[in-house]
Formats: sequence, structure tokens, C-alpha cells
Amino acid sequence: MDISRRLLFRRAVAAAAVSAGAAAFARPPRAQTPTRSRFVSDPFSLGVASGDPAVDGAVIWTRLAPDPLDPDGLGSDTHEVRWRVARDANMRDVVRSGRALAAPERAHTIHVELSGLEPDRPYWYRFEAGGAQSPTGRLFTLPEPGRRKEALKLAWASCQHYEQGWFNAYQDMVAWDPRLILHLGDYIYESSWGVQTRRHPTAEPFSVDDYRLQHAVYKLDRDLQAAHRLTSWAFIWDDHEVENDYAALVPENPVETAQFAARRAAAYRAYFEHMPISRRSLPVDGRVRLHQKLTYGDLAQFMMLDTRQHRAPRACVTEQDWHSSVVDCPEMNAPGRTMLGGEQERWFNSNLGGGPGRWTAIIQPTLFSDVFQTDFDGKPGDYNDGWGGYRTARQTILNRISQRKVGDVVFLGGDVHAFWAADVKADFAKPESPVIASEFVGTSITAGAGGDGGYARWRRMLQMAGNEHIRFQDGRVRGYGRAEITPQRWTTEFRAVDSVWTRTPVTTTLRRFVVESGRPGVQTA
Ligand code: FE
Ligand code: CA
Repeated sequence: MDISRRLLFRRAVAAAAVSAGAAAFARPPRAQTPTRSRFVSDPFSLGVASGDPAVDGAVIWTRLAPDPLDPDGLGSDTHEVRWRVARDANMRDVVRSGRALAAPERAHTIHVELSGLEPDRPYWYRFEAGGAQSPTGRLFTLPEPGRRKEALKLAWASCQHYEQGWFNAYQDMVAWDPRLILHLGDYIYESSWGVQTRRHPTAEPFSVDDYRLQHAVYKLDRDLQAAHRLTSWAFIWDDHEVENDYAALVPENPVETAQFAARRAAAYRAYFEHMPISRRSLPVDGRVRLHQKLTYGDLAQFMMLDTRQHRAPRACVTEQDWHSSVVDCPEMNAPGRTMLGGEQERWFNSNLGGGPGRWTAIIQPTLFSDVFQTDFDGKPGDYNDGWGGYRTARQTILNRISQRKVGDVVFLGGDVHAFWAADVKADFAKPESPVIASEFVGTSITAGAGGDGGYARWRRMLQMAGNEHIRFQDGRVRGYGRAEITPQRWTTEFRAVDSVWTRTPVTTTLRRFVVESGRPGVQTA
């Protein structure tokens, strides 16, 4: 059956099956009215998740999807979902419970924003609907800002292309049991290329139904589900949640300009629906506030940046060549070319360096450090989709760190499908300028890079003068980054899976690096 016939068939089955539940909502549901929803199959097929942890709560999430490949699976019916939060994994010591409505306007997703919980401890949560019970998830509340903490285990992921392999890295992440997981973007991909082990449901999403379908297929992945059940996540996004290389309201491909605002709004809406994120990030008129600061006791604060929604258009774009590439033109140095947008810049400036955490982690999607590189013809330039295309915006951030004397700054990134470790300099254009921070970029969960050819090319480039601050680079492997943070040192491990094509991976530490408190820069451990 092709996919459209399959969808029609599934629609018919689901409609017949849910009509029994519709009567329960002929009048507004009252708190004590038991739901009569019944589902053809497990309504919790997409799992559960928690995110945006706070000192007294977190968001818990699920979506009713008995037939996840059908965007209209539950039609226009609203269903009641019961939720419980307990202090124990067996869900006996229940401390919070309630009912929420899964409505078609939100693709039958549920976001419960918990509050009033105790700081710095695990809770377990579960949903029920139509007689079915969800898997149990675990969340962690944050310690109070300033509270003494000796250690934090943190993992970060990016670039999970569903078609380009199994999400094996999450098995290793779950086994390590981090307290906090950060996703740095490309949670979904909108397009297809490269070697494929499984297929997206649509050729390319444009409408909100398309994006919902895309998110549903990703959320069906069992390794991803296990990592979501494990602990609370926090998120930023990059381009592929909408479209490759878009900049604010400028699409990659100029012929789509007229429709792009609607496409982006559809993508943002489906993103909010499917992520365990706070109502703070609810789209309003097609805009989302995603940036935030998380504080972990006296140990760290995480400044999470949105570098897609507000950035200036890509520099050096011509009618002949609008694709991102390594280029150089005066526009790249132009002052006022924003990466964060005015509002987020003001927020960043007023929050940088003011927190009680010893470490300041700047969480952004891509490689932050400057790299001296050339195009395929040997001409020097910068990749115009990265920070190199927004040089004054990067320098503004560096100046802030220097002027405020913010110590113990670590940048984390993703996007480039390679591991990178770098010393971040006060001014990359001045070789004599001091190292003021450290940077670690995790590779992709699955999305492919240039393989051995790309690796050889970077080997050559990183030997060129001006790249001495790049301490490590390897794009041949898939995996993720993780860090053990203590008051004295930040230890990063680059974890590499030996294959994304089999289900029995072996994951090893490719490299380990240390940053000592009070001594900016990457040391080999
Ligand atoms: Fe990516
Ligand atoms: Ca891109």
C-alpha cells in the first residue's frame, strides 16, 4: 500500500474506533466524569517526556496517538488524560495528580507544567487515558540557585536524522544515566539525502500536519523514547526543525519566500506540540521564545541560545548561488549583523556573568570558534551559515566575556556532524589575544558528514596557521558529548558509536578533555 492509501485506511479504522469515546465529551468534561475514550491500540505509542526542569517542577509531556502515522487519527475529538506524579518509581507515593484535555488543536498532546515540588530530587510520572497506561517517566527538579553541589552529569545530543541510521547513541547515554540532557538542534530533519536505513513519512514537510507526522515518526524511535523517560531535557533548535539553512524569515531557497512564514509557523507549532517545553515557548503569531537560562545550584548556569529565529540573512548570497558555502565578502564583517536578535541580545547581556553557578555554559547549536578555512578552490573564507558569517555578533559575545571577566566559560555546540574541541580566544583575529573560554562540539547522533574525505580535508586545513586554537576534530564517527562537572574541573568525553546501521553498537570514548576551573582552555586528559 502506498502511504496515501495507507493513511486513508488508517483514518477509517481510527474514526470507527474512537466514536465510542466521543459521547463522553458531548458536554464539557467534569472533574469526576470517568472518560469513556477507547483506543484501537496503545495511545501512548510516542512515549512520555519531561523537560524545562525548574527548582520546583518540570513539564511532563505525552501525546495520544493510537495511530501515529495518521495525523487525523483521533479526528476532532477531545480526550481526557489523567496524570500522576510520585516520589517513587512504583508510583505508590503520589504527590500530584490531575486531568488534562488532549485536544485536536494541539495534536492531542499534553503539557503539564508541574510546580510546588521539592528541589533537587527525582519524581516519577505516568499518564492514563481510555483504560490505557503510559510508560513511567522520571524527572529531576533542579537544586536551588547557589545551593552547594559537588557534581553534575550532563549529556548533549544533536543532529538525529531518522533515515540515516539507528539512534544507538541514546542507548549509551541511558546506560551512563546523566541528570540532565540537552538537545542542541536538528531534533528532526525535513529533507532526505545520503544512505538510508528507514524512511521519512513525507518527501518534505510544509504544513502543520506534515510536521506533526514527521515529529511522530521520530518520537516512535525506541532509543529516543528511553532517553526521554530517563530524565528531564532542555532544548534549543537549529535549522532542520524547519528547513535547512533558513535565517529568521528567509528560506534557504528563495523561490519559497512567499510561503516561508507560513511554513515556519507550522514547523514551530508542531515543534512546541511535540517537545516537553514550557508554555513560555508557546508560539504566538508564529514566534517562539526558546532561549532560557537554567541554573544548577552553585555549580553551573546554562545559557541556551536561539540562533535561528532572529538571525540576519546569510551574507554573500547572490542570485546564482544562494546555498551556504565557504565564502568571503565585506558583508560578513558588517556591524549590526545580528545572530540573536535585539531582544535576546539584551537578555544575554544582562544575564551573562551574573549567576551563582561557577561554570557558565553557553549552549548554542553550532561551532562557535573561528576556523581558518578555504573553499574547494583554495580561496580563504568562512562558512556563511555559521558564526563566521556573523563575525561582529560573535565578537560582541567574546567582548562581553572579557569585559565582565566571566571565568569558567564553556561553549557547547552541535550542527557540524563532527567532534571539535577548541580554545576560545578573546579575539580570533589577533593571535596574541588570550584564551578566555573552552569549546566542545558533539558529533551527530546519526546525520552523515564528509566521511574519510572530509576528515582528510580538515586534517590539512587544521595544520594551517591561525588554527592552533583548534585542539581536536573528527567527523568520521557518530555519537554524542557528555560532561562530568565538578567545582574544580569540567571533564568532557566524546562518545563514539561503532555503527548506526546495526542495533548492537559498541560505544567507546574517542577522546577525553579537561578544563580546570580558573584556567580557560582545553587540556587533554
Ligand atoms: Fe545537522
Ligand atoms: Ca544546515
